[in-house]
Amino acid sequence: MNRILVTGGAGFLGSHLCDRLLAAGHDVLCVDNFFTGTKKNVAHLLGRPDFELMRHDVTFPLYVEVDRIFNLACPASPVHYQHDPVQTTKTSVHGAINMLGLAKRLRARILQASTSEVYGDPEMHPQREEYWGRVNPIGFRSCYDEGKRCAETLFFDYHRQHDLDIKVVRIFNTYGPRMHPNDGRVVSNFIVQALRGEDITLYGDGRQTRSFCYVDDLVEAMLRMMDSRRGFTGPVNIGNPVEFTMIELAELVLRLVGGASRIVHRPLPADDPRQRQPDIALAREELGWQPRVALEDGLKETIAYFRQLFAEGHAA
Ligand code: NAD
Ligand code: UDP
Ligand code: UDP
Repeated sequence: MNRILVTGGAGFLGSHLCDRLLAAGHDVLCVDNFFTGTKKNVAHLLGRPDFELMRHDVTFPLYVEVDRIFNLACPASPVHYQHDPVQTTKTSVHGAINMLGLAKRLRARILQASTSEVYGDPEMHPQREEYWGRVNPIGFRSCYDEGKRCAETLFFDYHRQHDLDIKVVRIFNTYGPRMHPNDGRVVSNFIVQALRGEDITLYGDGRQTRSFCYVDDLVEAMLRMMDSRRGFTGPVNIGNPVEFTMIELAELVLRLVGGASRIVHRPLPADDPRQRQPDIALAREELGWQPRVALEDGLKETIAYFRQLFAEGHAA
């Protein structure tokens, strides 16, 4: 049993991670400033003696005693991370420095939730970890992309300079229950629109691709990475390599939800990557991991979650 800190623990991925860590018998300290996460995501855990929720912004120092750290604090959807871009960069960079400082003092193992966005709009397909990426340093996505790239740099410099036990995962598009209904990401947008009978907003020609990983698969990979052999730092891609166009996604969501929504086209946002697919050979080899949940099955779970949320009157 360990005492484990999860920053961003009240968010979409973080709350699922807290669930799994508690189920495995660990003590969990969940730290979040509730910028995009909500208490509702962890409400079922409040009152447990092995769970503690702390409101705190990771851009400020944090003095606690833990054995391991999962650093997830950072808005993840373009709508949220572009809302206050300076704060996004601060969260990634100052947040990483503070959590690395904490890990250094405690000699604790620390895992960083990095992102496929470090590859930018890639010329290499599928993306392997060796690829350095093609990122616009001054665009609308840069606060997130460059912030996450700098966080990776900090992780590797603390590793080299202070012999810190680091783990870096590069997460590709992930979806599932507890996604924020208004975060503008494609899976939540399409499902929410279909459930409300509104138009499905397809950006650009809809032929751009993404590969979608179900949250349970993703959390399993993060846990395996945290437990991986010392010396295996990553970065390691985690995601589902099955690639879909946004048109295919829209049609699948429409079929599963039913209803009368129509697909309408909207302009493609700036710097929107054309194609994205992880090469997960390294995760297979080092973690013995591969995703198990097919898109259709994961979408059914996610649709059921949003139906329930709206039935309860949330975010309707
Ligand atoms: P999310 O927005 O649901 O969760 C992020 C959490 O961090 C929220 O609870 C938010 O309130 C909290 N937070 C933000 N700024 C903070 C700060 N300064 N101090 C403390 N807490 C703060 O997003 P998510 O999808 O759960 O993403 C979690 C992590 O995984 C992020 O670091 C994100 O970059 C990374 N990631 C996610 C995806 C994905 O597809 N979901 C893909 C790549 C990377
Ligand atoms: N820090 C923290 N908690 C700790 C130890 C450090 O938040 O338990 C922060 C501290 O504010 C510092 C940062 O982590 O600014 C980096 O720490 P480090 O020891 O690497 O750097 P230094 O303190 O020498 O600047
Ligand atoms: N997208 C879309 N309609 C929407 C929201 C997003 O067609 O309502 C597209 C978006 O342009 C991008 C893809 O879906 O090509 C994935 O977008 P998301 O914001 O979910 O993730 P990211 O671009 O960060 O991978």
